[in-house]
Amino acid sequence: MKVLVINCGSSSLKFRLIETENETVIVKGLFERIGGEGGHFVYNPTSGEKYEKDIFIKDHYEAVNILVSALTDPETGVVKSLDEIDAVGHRIVHGGDKFSHAVVLDDAAIKEIEKCADLAPIHNPVNLLGIRACMKYMPDTIMVGAFDTSFHQTMPEEAYLYGIPYEYYKNERIRRYGFHGMSHEYVAHETAKLLNRPIEETKIVTCHIGNGTSITAVKGGKSVDTSMGFTPLAGVLMGTRSGGIDPEIVKYIAKQENKSVQEVMDILNNKSGLYGLSDYLSSDVRDLTAEYVKGNENAKRALNRLAYAITKYIGSYFAVMGGIDAITFTAGVGENSWLVRKLICERLGGFGITFDEKANDEVRGTATISGPDSKVKVFVVPTDEEMSIARQVVQAVTASKK
Ligand code: AMP
Repeated sequence: MKVLVINCGSSSLKFRLIETENETVIVKGLFERIGGEGGHFVYNPTSGEKYEKDIFIKDHYEAVNILVSALTDPETGVVKSLDEIDAVGHRIVHGGDKFSHAVVLDDAAIKEIEKCADLAPIHNPVNLLGIRACMKYMPDTIMVGAFDTSFHQTMPEEAYLYGIPYEYYKNERIRRYGFHGMSHEYVAHETAKLLNRPIEETKIVTCHIGNGTSITAVKGGKSVDTSMGFTPLAGVLMGTRSGGIDPEIVKYIAKQENKSVQEVMDILNNKSGLYGLSDYLSSDVRDLTAEYVKGNENAKRALNRLAYAITKYIGSYFAVMGGIDAITFTAGVGENSWLVRKLICERLGGFGITFDEKANDEVRGTATISGPDSKVKVFVVPTDEEMSIARQVVQAVTASKK
């Protein structure tokens, strides 16, 4: 199948056309600063010249219009007609507890996604915009929605409920949802391949460590627990997000500093995590690493706290899954930071995990960084959320035809 993957942000649209049979990318690219000054379009076909241009892009509809013209253009095009595209897969941030897998988008599904917008007021409306724009220019093409939350819908009740009155779950749908589902799913499948075992027989911890971070326990290919919660603010500390804290702190800071709840939430989302804990040195692990190796106390405090927090989740997942076969690092920090991986692995010695320092220093792409005698394999796997969406589209389309 030829699947066009669309990932809409508030002022951006990333795309990729994938031949799913052999999982090859035909063309990829993006639109940036949609609706504002400095609009930019990048179009990068695998066999052909990459081109980019500065262009004013009025809205997401215009972006899709430009995209379909480029895809079918006699010079730059990669398909003769849009009919060659079998389906479009849309990334949707929040599927609430209604979507446990990707679905073909009909009117009823779109209504449900609109309802979930209460849970993701910034992201879901933008995702819907992308869907509507594609429906306008490709009215005869199958549209599929794939959700960041759906992979975690397999969490058991004891993992997803909060210890608050049950009526808040029943009436307001307050529960732990989890995010980065496409990344965790993709990486878990790649890890099972590295283990050379059917995923149904594996216990894997996937560590998606980037600007946003979440750590997931994947048992038999299913998410059984994850560190993020009702929102992506929960779990371990991140670039600028605090991760989980005692909720009384919100009230305390508001009272001490005469701030509104919204102002305190802004601190927890944008001024905390590595950035806040390093005394505003940086949220970027590249900067913090450069300072860490020079002995900077602010950088050491922040990165050690991050490693400690992730180690605690991994340790708790040993208990949750009754053991672990593999731990896999992915995303911007997980794939690129020798230091963060080292700080975590060194803390896991008690579980019989040994660490190959040289292999860790030399990681390029997929790699094994555990020692030969390690009781648990440790891998690095580059994430590929678009490929994960394309795989889910194939499943959804196949299921819809049965
Ligand atoms: P992501 O959200 O997955 O795109 O991750 C972005 C983050 O990855 C950046 O903010 C950096 O902290 C981190 N990162 C990217 N490249 C490197 C690198 N070469 N070394 C260490 N950290 C990196």
